[in-house]
Amino acid sequence: MAVIRDVMPAFQLYQPSSVADAQKLLEQNGHDALALAGGLDSMDWLKDRIRKPNVVVDLGGVDELKGIRETADGLEIGAMTTLTEVAQSPVIRQKYGVLAQAAELVASPQIRNQGTIGGNLSQDTRCWYYRAGWPCYRAGGNICYADTPVGRNREHAILHAERCVAVNPSDTAPACIALDAKLVVLTPKGQQAIAAEDYFVGPDLDITRMNILRPGYLLTTIRIPSKWANAGFYFEKVRDRNVWDFPLMNVASAMQVSGDTIQDIRIAVNAVAARPLRLRMVEDSVRGKPRNAATGEAAGKLAVQGAVPLQFNGYKIPLMRNLVKRAITGVEEAAWAS
Ligand SMILES: Cc1cc2nc3c(=O)[nH]c(=O)nc-3n(C[C@H](O)[C@H](O)[C@H](O)COP(=O)(O)OP(=O)(O)OC[C@H]3O[C@@H](n4cnc5c(N)ncnc54)[C@H](O)[C@@H]3O)c2cc1C
Ligand code: SF4
Repeated sequence: MAVIRDVMPAFQLYQPSSVADAQKLLEQNGHDALALAGGLDSMDWLKDRIRKPNVVVDLGGVDELKGIRETADGLEIGAMTTLTEVAQSPVIRQKYGVLAQAAELVASPQIRNQGTIGGNLSQDTRCWYYRAGWPCYRAGGNICYADTPVGRNREHAILHAERCVAVNPSDTAPACIALDAKLVVLTPKGQQAIAAEDYFVGPDLDITRMNILRPGYLLTTIRIPSKWANAGFYFEKVRDRNVWDFPLMNVASAMQVSGDTIQDIRIAVNAVAARPLRLRMVEDSVRGKPRNAATGEAAGKLAVQGAVPLQFNGYKIPLMRNLVKRAITGVEEAAWAS
C-alpha cells in the first residue's frame, strides 16, 4: 500500500497541565484521541498519515507525570520522565542499575533526551510492513507479509507467534519486568497497578495492541519495589549497530545470590515475541543452584524450548540461549560496574 507523505492531517491539539485533565480528555475523546509523550513513535504514524486521530493530547505540560521519587517501598518514576533522566538518575544507577543500563542503551542521546519511559514501554512494534501501512493481520487485514517464504523477517519473533510474528522493541521493558515493577494506569473505571509482565499483550490476546492500554487509559507511574534494590543485575542488548538501533534481542536479570547459590531471580527477554517474556521456567530451574557455567548452560537450553525460527531469523535461537546463559553467569557485570 502506498504511503502518502505530505502534511499531517489536521487534529485538535490539547495541552493539559494536570493528570486529571489529561485523563478526562483521553476518556472524553475515546478512539478519536492519541496520547502524545515524546512523539518518537507517535509522530511517525501521524506523518505517514497511517493514524489520523481527531484529537492529540500532549502530555508534555503535565509536571505530575515527570520525575523520580524515592518512596517507603522503593521508587516511583513518572511516565513522562525522559530516558536520559532515568539513565542518569543517581538512585537508579546505584540501586536499580539494570534499568539505568537499559535506558542508556536506547537509541541515541537525542532520542533519549526526548523519549519518555512511559512511551518506551508503550511503543508499537517496528515491523516495517505494518509501519508502512500494509494491510496485515495487525492492521486489520488477513495476511502476515513477514511470515512468508520471501518475507523480510530477520528481526521477527521466534516464540509465541500467532498469525503476527512482530516483536516488542522496548529496551526498558525487560528491565522493568526483572525489577518486578508495577505500572500504574488510570482507566475510566479507576486506577490499576499492573505487574510489568502483564502490561504487555501478545497476538493470542489481541493482535491489534502491544499493551493493555485502551482508549481513555493513561499510564502515570512506574513503581519499582525495594525488594530487588542492589541485587546482582545483568543487562545485555544485541543490535546491528552500536548506536541508534533497536534491539535484535535483549535480556535483563535481577538475582539474589548467597555464597555461590542463586537464592532468587527474575529474568526477562525482549524482541523474541510480541511481548517481552518473563522466563518463569528458567527462574524456577536455577533457584537453589550454583551460579556457574553449567547452570547457565542448562538455563539457556530451557529458555529456547519451543522456539520456531522463520526463514531469516534462525540466529535468534543460539543468541537467546547464550544471552540467558550470560544473564545467569553474569560475565559482563564487571564491565558495567567499572
Ligand atoms: C530512530 C529510533 C531509534 C530507536 N531506538 C530504540 C532502541 O534502541 N530501543 C528502544 O527501546 N526504543 C527505541 N526507540 C523508541 C524510542 O526510544 C521511544 O521511547 C519510543 O518511540 C516512544 O517514546 P515516546 O516518549 O517518544 O512516546 P510516543 O511516541 O509519544 O508514544 C508512544 C506510544 O505510547 C503511548 N503513550 C506514551 N505515553 C503514554 C502515557 N503516559 N499514557 C498512555 N499512553 C502513552 C502513545 O499514545 C503512543 O501510542 C527508537 C526510536 C527511534 C525513532
Ligand atoms: S509480523 Fe505482524 S505486524 Fe508484521 S506484517 Fe505480519 S501481521 Fe503485520
